[in-house]
Amino acid sequence: STLELAPHICVVGSGPAGFYTAQHLLKHHPRAQVDIYEKQLVPFGLVRFGVAPDHPEVKNVINTFTQTARSTRCAFRGNVTVGRDVSVSELREAYHAVVLSYGAEDHNILGIPGEELPGVISARDFVGWYNGLPENRKLAPNLNCDTALILGQGNVALDVARILLTPTELLEKTDITAEALKVLKQSQVKRVWIVGRRGPLQVAFTIKASRPRKRLLELLVRTARKPPEPKADSKVTTPRAWGLRFLRSPQEMLPSPNGSRVVGIRLAVMRLEGSDENAQAVPTGEMEDVPCGLVLSSVGYKSRSIDPTVPFDPKLGVIPNSEGRVLGAPGLYCSGWVKRGPTGVIATTMNDSFLTGQALLQDLEAGVLPLGPKLGYSVIEPLLKNRGVQPVSFKDWEKLDAEEVAQGQAVGKPREKLVDPQQMLQILGP
Ligand code: FAD
Repeated sequence: STLELAPHICVVGSGPAGFYTAQHLLKHHPRAQVDIYEKQLVPFGLVRFGVAPDHPEVKNVINTFTQTARSTRCAFRGNVTVGRDVSVSELREAYHAVVLSYGAEDHNILGIPGEELPGVISARDFVGWYNGLPENRKLAPNLNCDTALILGQGNVALDVARILLTPTELLEKTDITAEALKVLKQSQVKRVWIVGRRGPLQVAFTIKASRPRKRLLELLVRTARKPPEPKADSKVTTPRAWGLRFLRSPQEMLPSPNGSRVVGIRLAVMRLEGSDENAQAVPTGEMEDVPCGLVLSSVGYKSRSIDPTVPFDPKLGVIPNSEGRVLGAPGLYCSGWVKRGPTGVIATTMNDSFLTGQALLQDLEAGVLPLGPKLGYSVIEPLLKNRGVQPVSFKDWEKLDAEEVAQGQAVGKPREKLVDPQQMLQILGP
């Protein structure tokens, strides 16, 4: 049948989940055609926009993803937001199967008074800002204060603390954006508190994994270095320090007298009930006010629903699924953070994406997927054109990539990320 000749499969999202799912499908089915849709102009999801700039070795997975994207049976369709430019139903019509791997684009809120004050930002936005995520490029975080406070004690909190504390001489050689480097060079932040509700035994980064331990050590080593001689353009003249504050739960942000910005935070002092890793933190009734000019909330990423036709569990923030098969929606699959929730490293995401790919191929083999010819992108292309959407290809990305690398070379960085979509489209030409 036609299906046996070439199943057309659509993957939504080009982060690790999207690429590893595509890789599995292409490797284990000799004729599968895979289209990867991505809302950004550029591929790789959190490998580009999440992983810290001072961890370049983590980004080596991009080489594998690039090999996948260059396959003649794979196509990258960037600059297409699924759920807005094209619906999931339209994709399901056009393809034999659709894999949702669009990650976790939201963040949890604290839900406390003063959270909206200038000077209070999410770690997600801060990470997006220093990594060149277009929507965060104008964040302009206030680093003209001597104390920053991070709420949450996970890996992202440690990344953020390290970026705030690392001497800019070291960051200069990374792919951190020019704008972030400029602001960090002027930073007056001398002290960073990393605050958590529970105790040292329960925090997210003391789990029995080596990566968090490595990150804590790294933070210790970097900040214990002899502080660099103050430079003319640097306002930092004293060594920087950081500390962990356990058993503190945020109650409210404290505003300046005219209410224009945050100047501190009120924390409830907690104590532990029970003694093991599952011990609960309960309030002691005591409060503590900590002055700080910048609060970064790092209490987790969160997935959104992509389209009202797709089942979604808002409480768990995942698409309900069984081994990657979306419940009640034959032909629809999911992988990565939107399948498991927003935890786990790239290797975890790889394993679960391979499993989703395997489930899809089993269904294909078993004849569970809708039979009959499907035309894939040739049905979607005219829809996008009518809607004024201008998709970009992997060749286009390679052009942008070359431009970034060239700009970076000029200033001794691996790349200078382009952060303005208009400028990127200009470089690509009509
Ligand atoms: P993502 O990487 O988020 O990919 C989702 C993709 O879908 C994105 O490209 C997004 O633009 C796209 N998308 C979203 N909505 C749509 C839509 N509507 N239409 C089309 N496309 C859409 N792991 C490590 O192993 N090492 C590290 O050092 C490390 N550091 C990290 C640092 C941070 C700050 C964070 C947040 C995570 C880090 N991780 C790290 C974890 C790793 O990034 C994740 O495991 C992995 O990226 C999850 O993959 P994913 O494909 O599910 O999601």
